Amino acid sequence: MDKAYVKIPQAKNEPVLSYAPGTPEREEVLKTYKEMWNSHVEVPLYINGEKVFTGKTKEIRPPHDHGHVVGVFHRASDEHVKQAIDAALKARQKWADLPWEQRVSIFLKAADLISGPYRAKMNAATMINQSKTIHQAEIDAVAELADFWRFNAEYLARIYKEQPESAKDVFNRMEYRPLEGFIYAVTPFNFTSIAGNLPTAPAMAGNVVVWKPSVSQMYSANMIMEVLMEAGLPAGVINMVTGSASKITEVVLNHPEFSGLHYTGSTAVFQYLWKTIGNNIDKYKTYPRIVGETGGKDFVWMAPDANPVEVATALARGAFEYQGQKCSAASRAYIPESQWDAVFKELKKQVESMKMGDPGDFSNFITAVINEASFNKLAGYIEQAKKDKEVEIVIGGGYDKSKGYFIEPTVFLTTDPHYETMVEELFGPILTVYVYPDKEWKESLDLVDGTSPYGLTGAIFAKDRYIIDYATKRLENAAGNFYINDKPTGAVVNQQPFGGARASGTNDKAGSMWNLIRWLSPRAIKENFNPPKDYRYPFLGE
Ligand code: NAD
Repeated sequence: MDKAYVKIPQAKNEPVLSYAPGTPEREEVLKTYKEMWNSHVEVPLYINGEKVFTGKTKEIRPPHDHGHVVGVFHRASDEHVKQAIDAALKARQKWADLPWEQRVSIFLKAADLISGPYRAKMNAATMINQSKTIHQAEIDAVAELADFWRFNAEYLARIYKEQPESAKDVFNRMEYRPLEGFIYAVTPFNFTSIAGNLPTAPAMAGNVVVWKPSVSQMYSANMIMEVLMEAGLPAGVINMVTGSASKITEVVLNHPEFSGLHYTGSTAVFQYLWKTIGNNIDKYKTYPRIVGETGGKDFVWMAPDANPVEVATALARGAFEYQGQKCSAASRAYIPESQWDAVFKELKKQVESMKMGDPGDFSNFITAVINEASFNKLAGYIEQAKKDKEVEIVIGGGYDKSKGYFIEPTVFLTTDPHYETMVEELFGPILTVYVYPDKEWKESLDLVDGTSPYGLTGAIFAKDRYIIDYATKRLENAAGNFYINDKPTGAVVNQQPFGGARASGTNDKAGSMWNLIRWLSPRAIKENFNPPKDYRYPFLGE
């Protein structure tokens, strides 16, 4: 931008369409879903703007019907990963030098594409690949991703405007350079929007990227690349490779030009990546930026005076939407003794009315969990709970993988506030409840704070303002996204910037200025209009 202070179009949250019976969007997405279901896709690698078909493939099967194949994805060798890094580095200077409004225009156009002509395809791909209901797909693959792209453009403009003061005879300015080298983006299966945001946020700021999506999300990851190419993303700016996560990572993290990790996924993988970067630290040209948003053990705490129907509804939605496979999903609840009967009755009524099955049938609220490994792990917790004395399965507990990976929404009631499912992230539709004596509400908040290593999201329900104030302060470090009288899921870009600390990540808040700042390396420039002509200061005078 050297000829104008450009004002980019004002970002607004993308409206979420209803898909109610009779709406045109419902008809269109169902038609697209059927067409895509019956076609076969070859997902390539994307290196230097080219689609690369390696011939080493793996099948893509929808989680709700694992007997059906919708395509294959091609896997990268070490050589392909090296080519992806080279392509990124080759593209770097030209991309970094492109005026920022030209760069962001590509992503603004991509946002218009996914909320317009690609809307049905983005949704259908996410429904098929990750087994989301149409509502879950719409709030993710369309609304949130369009929001990321539009608001990040606005945040970037805000950062560039941040300039220092200048004293007499001096002109100070700040330049926000992209990092030297390339960024490695590693993304999880559960949000198409996160997969789209992690490589593009650094790219928008002028960086070049090697992106490794999750093998369980390749079908919708491919849609993102198609949209970005259609929007005019130049060759080499984002290179998508997939295959063995550990092999790809080994090549990337050993490269001297590796300059940043943009990661979302489980805590264990993040810690492994951080350690590897630490061990390689003397190999790099510059200290890499590390941004990671990881697991959660998100809580709902109810005060004795809260409304049981509101709490039960928050649990029904917060714990079971998308089968509990949101990092923000409620997975442990603390309910006062005097209220448990009322909460339980309502929760049971709501959960037992949830239909489970194929997302192509819009009457289903619950669909499948992502894959067999996840299914087996969750079934294992259910079987263990059947044996353990300190826990009782009070709702659900059924599972079946004959056609798809289906786990019923399940509630455990435990007498041990440190029972393993109160502590560990399960990442599935299992909620554990601990009932506390009403008069020990303060101690129960200590339990909320101290039980799990995570600090991602959490919710409190109360009417008494002194209790709300006390709990808000007591749980200051228990959640990076804290909700009062609302479920702990459903953060919206530009309204509730998302991320947590402790074992949940670096809390750099995806979809905010705070995240974008991590992909920029400021340069302070001072120009002197009147340089001194003598070294002596006045105090040296006679
Ligand atoms: P995952 O940890 O299995 O995978 C995440 C990514 O890491 C994938 O791309 C995977 O291929 C890659 N990976 C796995 N092993 C690796 C290795 N050895 N080296 C390099 N990369 C490797 O997570 P997932 O199952 O895809 O996603 C669920 C997890 O993500 C949950 O823990 C959830 O809480 C977390 N999550 C967090 C947020 C957040 O914002 N905090 C958002 C979404 C998901």
